[in-house]
Amino acid sequence: MADDYLVKPGKKAKLADRDPADTSAFKSEEAAKAQLAEDAAEIDRLQDRLYAEGKRSLLVVLQGMDTSGKDGTVRGVFNQTGPLGVSVTAFRRPSEEEMAHDFLWRAHMAAPKRGTIGIFNRSHYEDVLVVKVHKLAPAKDIDKRYDQINAFEKMLTENGVTILKFMLNISKKEQRERLQERLDDPKKHWKFNPGDLDDRKLWDEFQAAYELMLENCSTDHAPWRVIPADHKWARNAAISAIVRKTLEDMNPQYPKVTWDPKSFRVE
Ligand code: AMP
Ligand code: MG
Repeated sequence: MADDYLVKPGKKAKLADRDPADTSAFKSEEAAKAQLAEDAAEIDRLQDRLYAEGKRSLLVVLQGMDTSGKDGTVRGVFNQTGPLGVSVTAFRRPSEEEMAHDFLWRAHMAAPKRGTIGIFNRSHYEDVLVVKVHKLAPAKDIDKRYDQINAFEKMLTENGVTILKFMLNISKKEQRERLQERLDDPKKHWKFNPGDLDDRKLWDEFQAAYELMLENCSTDHAPWRVIPADHKWARNAAISAIVRKTLEDMNPQYPKVTWDPKSFRVE
């Protein structure tokens, strides 16, 4: 299942050929939700082993247009996971301090410690997405960033970090509905940002920047997956299955102790 969503390294991503409303991986919404619940519980059990082992970590990168469901994915997939072993970092417009460093500095600072799962809600990829579309840095600098990102991620993987990257692929039509909801529902007003409408006007430019990112930065060590995200349940079930499978393949082990538990008595 995982590989349906993969962007093969060196290949075009062809976003136009990928249906954001695709649910063909699932028998039904009900079945997908049941699978998600099982996956979420299993992710927690595997996370406990990862934490106990204390040698490796998992980095989950979430990228997508406004309303694509980055927050919802964190809530939906990791809601069973013990908070001790998870860190979530939201990447916003860089602070003055962050701007005073190279663009990867803040991403490196937020990379997950051994034994933990780190989730990036947006990421260092904003520096080839919003920064490219809004021309916030010179084009010649941005062009170099794809290779810099690949090298950075390679270095992380060589130091025990497994990397999963998900682009949450929503349609322009679905985004319209979700933005309208943010205007209609007082409980969602806080999520609305007038700037989101400016980015919506640049939809095609963002799609082009995403394609370039997918094409240049889907590597063997850290491949991109494009997740159909018009249906929240399908999005969560797809991601939970991949996260679970990845942790199962990592197969973290509880450390063996060198002493005999039977030789102790707790009085
Ligand atoms: P939100 O995800 O709704 O909290 O919004 C965060 C905003 O920060 C988005 O509009 C991002 O495009 C923006 N952002 C994130 N990283 C960068 C960056 N490196 N440079 C400029 N803007 C950024
Ligand atoms: Mg926003």
